[in-house]
Amino acid sequence: MKGKILRALREAGQEYVSGSALCEKLGVSRQAVWKNIAALKEMGYEFAAGSNKGYRLISAPDRLYGPEIESHLPEDGICQRVECLDRVDSTNSYAKRLAEQGEPEGTLVVAERQTAGRGRRGRHWESPEGVNVFMTLILRPELHPSRISGMTLLAALAIAKAIQEMVSVDVAIKWPNDVIVAGKKVCGILTEMSSEENFVHYGVVGMGINVNQAGFPEELQGKATSLFLETGEKLDRCALAARTVTLFGAYYRQYEREGNLSAIVPEYNRFLANRDREVRVYYGMVEDAAEEDVRTGIARGIDREGALLVEMDGREERIVSGEVSVRGKDGYV
Ligand code: ATP
Repeated sequence: MKGKILRALREAGQEYVSGSALCEKLGVSRQAVWKNIAALKEMGYEFAAGSNKGYRLISAPDRLYGPEIESHLPEDGICQRVECLDRVDSTNSYAKRLAEQGEPEGTLVVAERQTAGRGRRGRHWESPEGVNVFMTLILRPELHPSRISGMTLLAALAIAKAIQEMVSVDVAIKWPNDVIVAGKKVCGILTEMSSEENFVHYGVVGMGINVNQAGFPEELQGKATSLFLETGEKLDRCALAARTVTLFGAYYRQYEREGNLSAIVPEYNRFLANRDREVRVYYGMVEDAAEEDVRTGIARGIDREGALLVEMDGREERIVSGEVSVRGKDGYV
């Protein structure tokens, strides 16, 4: 109900919405509308309420709040339920537990803070409280297990596009799973699944977006940034989360229908960091790679399976995610 009230007020913009219009739209009593508005005020929402005019939304608190995210989502989009937590071990781990218990596709788990945030291969993901977006979407795709890694690319594209729409920064994607601003990582994506040989029980797509974080621990300073650090402006985290999920949902539906990524290849490649430039491909851990574990080549773009095409020794090779890490010629990007 709170999500629907917020959505109705948001849709009206600068206009007032009368109490009776809200009652009619939501099919509830005036008393119920009034009680919910009072509860929202208690949480820090500000409304203008003119006598006889009704309500107008002035501002929302900076908090990841389910009804607030829902109010930014299209009614017929992929996300049908948002569960917001103050603290969780990892939104992916929590979403997997929900999925194991039969949670349907389209539930979004969001947290203000992760105590055991994870990157690929179990790496630690820095997850401080109250400034970023940590979220995981539960999916039950009708896709072969080999196609699930493609969802990471769809998520990267959705995040890059949502950022580009809402913030004036240059954004790029470092294949396959990192979104980059000013040469540093602003977001990571972790896709996991439960499957049988030919059947996916569920997939979860986790996204950690550095939104309003004002600084990073020393070991990440050369490699991580936030949208706030790049622009000096605080961003509406709920709106960013909702826009990302909306874009992802549309890409995902198309991917499920077509079974390959051809519809997004041109757009993804426009965002691709190092396109037509030299990259280093690490077969194994970057940190302790031996000379023979590293090859260099020119990155050309992704193909419809999501592999990175790299020209090496005069031949185009398909680099498949999961087995390698890609770096720029002289650094991370
Ligand atoms: P690869 O290119 O192989 O994916 P990666 O370093 O990007 O390597 P990820 O699993 O995507 O690996 O992310 C985990 C790494 O990201 C961590 O080892 C750490 O270096 C870095 N990291 C951790 N927390 C953050 C954060 N909040 N923002 C940006 N980078 C982070």
